Amino acid sequence: ATSDKQTSPKPPPSPSPLRNSKFCQSNMRILISGGAGFIGSHLVDKLMENEKNEVIVADNYFTGSKDNLKKWIGHPRFELIRHDVTEPLLIEVDQIYHLACPASPIFYKYNPVKTIKTNVIGTLNMLGLAKRVGARILLTSTSEVYGDPLIHPQPESYWGNVNPIGVRSCYDEGKRVAETLMFDYHRQHGIEIRIARIFNTYGPRMNIDDGRVVSNFIAQALRGEALTVQKPGTQTRSFCYVSDMVDGLMRLMEGDDTGPINIGNPGEFTMVELAETVKELINPSIEIKMVENTPDDPRQRKPDITKAKEVLGWEPKVKLREGLPLMEEDFRLRLGVPKN
Ligand code: NAD
Ligand code: UDP
Ligand code: UDP
Repeated sequence: ATSDKQTSPKPPPSPSPLRNSKFCQSNMRILISGGAGFIGSHLVDKLMENEKNEVIVADNYFTGSKDNLKKWIGHPRFELIRHDVTEPLLIEVDQIYHLACPASPIFYKYNPVKTIKTNVIGTLNMLGLAKRVGARILLTSTSEVYGDPLIHPQPESYWGNVNPIGVRSCYDEGKRVAETLMFDYHRQHGIEIRIARIFNTYGPRMNIDDGRVVSNFIAQALRGEALTVQKPGTQTRSFCYVSDMVDGLMRLMEGDDTGPINIGNPGEFTMVELAETVKELINPSIEIKMVENTPDDPRQRKPDITKAKEVLGWEPKVKLREGLPLMEEDFRLRLGVPKN
């Protein structure tokens, strides 16, 4: 449907306004980089519900898996490409959700040079693609751009408190550069951009052993192991259920605001409170033990979602106590631990 774009040597900087309008009746071809991962695969499910959408996933399977997309493989409106975003990608699309990047600290610290290449070169390539075909592009940035925040809760106007040379820098400074690239392509080349700052998200299909706190606690509770709270345990996070996250990302893409916009659940918990909640809901006989933390762990994090409410009409619906059992169900199936 968009092959005419291939023959035009210099396509217009942005698609025809009708192309992205909600009244548009024509098909929309959507690329999701990192679509085989946790959030990406839920986004694919939601986008595929609309029969006007054709979905292309590009993923190198570093932390994602074909398994997350198995119900779509072979579907006429779906395509899966093994592709590393640090390499150029030449395809024709109308929208790009750019998610490709490992999100769990143990994975993004595993090969930090690759992580920063993914954030910088990967985002540059997605922007080059957006520029060539006139696509709108959404970046999934992160609350980590606020670093160890000195303002609480964090509004989008806060510039952050980030260590530029720490072990997390490949990820948080990488995302900060990715945001800079997005705005420079927007200002210099007129690219239509959207930036979401995602706060901790949880739900089914998270990697069981990816080291993030919610997946760790649920897996530990189901395996009958002690819940490992990293010291001091008073550090806080705010956890958003994945269906709320996907809804927020799609509203941002379809809306008129470039962002950045915080998308997250303002319900804030200390890690001790989270452990106690998991214990109560999943396995009351389990122990909670304190273990060493990792460097530069942010002490507090909670989104100010005033802007998301005003601009997107969005706020999360699923409370932690409702979301944890949904994730438990998925982890029970994958770990083979039936409910007695
Ligand atoms: P995930 O690790 O499950 O998914 C990331 C996907 O990107 C995986 O499928 C992985 O294989 C793919 N990928 C990684 N490097 C790639 C590369 N070079 N080329 C192609 N594909 C590559 O993580 P997620 O939780 O689904 O996170 C998705 C996005 O949301 C990421 O950009 C992440 O930074 C952002 N985010 C997530 C959270 C969270 O709590 N989950 C919080 C803030 C931001
Ligand atoms: N790029 C891509 N797909 C495209 C167009 C560009 O992957 O369809 C890559 C391209 O290889 C380049 C990057 O995006 O490395 C930035 O492209 P841009 O055109 O902005 O810069 P230039 O190629 O002029 O350096
Ligand atoms: N954490 C913990 N036990 C674990 C894993 C993590 O107490 O088994 C803590 C960690 O110290 C941090 C918080 O949980 O304060 C969130 O960590 P996670 O890696 O999930 O995400 P991020 O640090 O990126 O927010």
